[in-house]
Amino acid sequence: MKEKIYTIPVNDAYRSVTGCPLCELAAQVEKSSLDYYLGASLMEPDVRTSTNSTGFCGQHLSKMYNMEINRLGLGLMLHTHMIDLKKDIGTALSAAAPPPGSFLKGRDRDYKKNLDKLADRIESRADSCIICDKISTTMDRYLDVLLWMYFEDSGFKAVFISKNNHCLHHAALLLRGAARHLSQTQANEFVQVLARQENMGFDEMIADIEWFTLKFDYRNKDKPWGNSKTAIPRAISLLSDKGGINHDI
Ligand SMILES: [Zn+2]
Ligand SMILES: [Zn+2]
Repeated sequence: MKEKIYTIPVNDAYRSVTGCPLCELAAQVEKSSLDYYLGASLMEPDVRTSTNSTGFCGQHLSKMYNMEINRLGLGLMLHTHMIDLKKDIGTALSAAAPPPGSFLKGRDRDYKKNLDKLADRIESRADSCIICDKISTTMDRYLDVLLWMYFEDSGFKAVFISKNNHCLHHAALLLRGAARHLSQTQANEFVQVLARQENMGFDEMIADIEWFTLKFDYRNKDKPWGNSKTAIPRAISLLSDKGGINHDI
């Protein structure tokens, strides 16, 4: 039996959400993480150690700032994070300039590689984010539980089979999960179901977008919208949601 703290949210999301259920789960993890890091935990020494070294990506910092709560805490956290960053990146930058060129061939020919390496290191510090990490590890747990429930819980399987709105990002995540957790025979069944549902979702989306465009024709002006009114934002979600992070569309 898998832990209930994971099975319950997966079940709830699949039974109640109209959009991509995995986006909804990711959005929930994101929200509780944002609350956690802006809450009392912010002053705990071990939390500060990780906020100092890992920090947050730009998107999650903006979200925290825009929540308009505990800006003092956010300021204190950013202050010590910046000090950590300067010690690491500032020091590395100071040592990064290659010596001037010399007539002696072969000297310092590694300088291009070294500059690229430092650029990689700076980018990875800019992107490193405790909340993105938390979303990704929790989604891995959900994925494990989801695949387990699909084969062990016929009620859940029926609900999963009825869903045709996984976004592209999460369709890919499900395939990776199938590769990691399922036997070949299980993968045979699961991937066929996923393929059929995903294609049904594409067909519906294609028809809805087409009707959206046809509604611009004056002859269709008074005909009902059907599902087409929301076709464009739904298509954007399907194409661009990264684990539910763009869920404000
Ligand atoms: Zn999704
Ligand atoms: Zn992030």
